[in-house]
Amino acid sequence: MGLSREGGLFVPETVPAISMEELASLCALDYRERAVRIMKLFLEDYSEEELRGFANAAYSREKFDSEAVAPVVKLGDGTYILELWHGPTCAFKDMALQMLPYLLTAALKKTGEEKRVCILVATSGDTGKAALEGFRDVEGTKILVFYPRDGVSEVQKLQMTSQEGGNVFVSAIEGNFDDAQTGVKEIFSSEELREELAENGWFLSSANSINWGRLLPQIVYYFSAYCDLINAGEIKMGEKINFSVPTGNFGDILAGYYAKKMGLPVARLICASNRNNVLTDFFETGEYNRARPFYETISPSMDILISSNLERLLSDLSDSGDKVRVLMESLKSEGRYEIDAETLEKINSVFSAGSLDDEAAKAVIRETFSEKGYLLDTHTAVAFGVTKAYREKTGDKTKTVTLSTASPFKFTPAVLSALGKPCEKPGPELIGELSETAGIPAPRPLADLAGRKARFTFCAKKTELFDTVKAFLS
Ligand SMILES: *Cc1c(COP(=O)(O)O)cnc(C)c1O
Repeated sequence: MGLSREGGLFVPETVPAISMEELASLCALDYRERAVRIMKLFLEDYSEEELRGFANAAYSREKFDSEAVAPVVKLGDGTYILELWHGPTCAFKDMALQMLPYLLTAALKKTGEEKRVCILVATSGDTGKAALEGFRDVEGTKILVFYPRDGVSEVQKLQMTSQEGGNVFVSAIEGNFDDAQTGVKEIFSSEELREELAENGWFLSSANSINWGRLLPQIVYYFSAYCDLINAGEIKMGEKINFSVPTGNFGDILAGYYAKKMGLPVARLICASNRNNVLTDFFETGEYNRARPFYETISPSMDILISSNLERLLSDLSDSGDKVRVLMESLKSEGRYEIDAETLEKINSVFSAGSLDDEAAKAVIRETFSEKGYLLDTHTAVAFGVTKAYREKTGDKTKTVTLSTASPFKFTPAVLSALGKPCEKPGPELIGELSETAGIPAPRPLADLAGRKARFTFCAKKTELFDTVKAFLS
């Protein structure tokens, strides 16, 4: 189940702790084995051999173009980049969505579920493609993706609309990501639709980060990055470090929060937003208010005003689920809620927040490339810039790992423009150009994208999402 019947998100009853000895023993292992160890702490119903089989398949050399799977790159001045985009769709969503189909299909067997599962996805660009790749032609599953028609990059769009596989469908919707996500949540909480689909032998699940199965594999790379820094002699065992995360739905950074809670030595988590800075304001004032303009930016996967996973953080910090339910209901009916001073203080003892607009993000891309020879994508640039500003403002010299969430080749027009080479051609046709300009080969899965044809051209109105699901499963 992606979402509870009442519409709330699932959270672990308890978060397992990891000792310093266990953490030290993880350092001797490769990424796949680290994933087995971390996930096993939560997944008591799965055997270690089972998880090992999943990790070896999900993070194979065939799927990931880096032996390290999620390598850490040193940029100097105590800053590091954790590259999470070496998977088949070149965004960090692969880290979880290569694993999720294995977890889910095994869960179907373990629970004796006889119905088939349809994965329903609302995407701001990267989840859609990563979920399609993860679930394509997986037996007993279908997958349906909704993306905002004008809210994804052209590379992202073509990646999705040209998707292969016999069990997939991709639909644009008239609206933005929040419309898509709200529509999908309504579908999940419709009792009537659930019954109708059940009669035809189907049930729905989610590949969005509202699904716990998305968050769990993401906890792994925080541990893995820490171990890599230990192994490289950059930090001492037990030394606390910061992580800075380009944030949209608050899923990626929340995984870091769980890692800290498990015992990973983390000082602060830096939450970076683009011009849609609802989270920056929230951390400052304690008021979450979505009643504000929605901006389309060069970092479209962060163009979000309703960050679903914040619900999980609030749940973790409050003693009763009812309190969170009241806040979420207020968000739904009034578009806002406010937390008490005590909760805000708890949040601010762990999180810092900041935002960067498009021009500032482009300047970060340009400077980082000219000074360090390292090419950031538009999302990672937001986080790297926010990290820099945070360090200057606070004087905090703690070593800081910025999570790099996508390959720059997914956002070619903006990255080329940042490098002083603006270009009018459609994104997919600029992949070669960026490669030449930066002197970096394009990732294999993107290199031949320009020649591919769209298979899916359907665009649903906001009111047609239910019908689209029914038609796909009839
Ligand atoms: C999804 C995504 C994000 C935001 O991650 P959340 O888990 O939604 O906070 C940031 N950058 C890129 C490239 C993404 O695809």
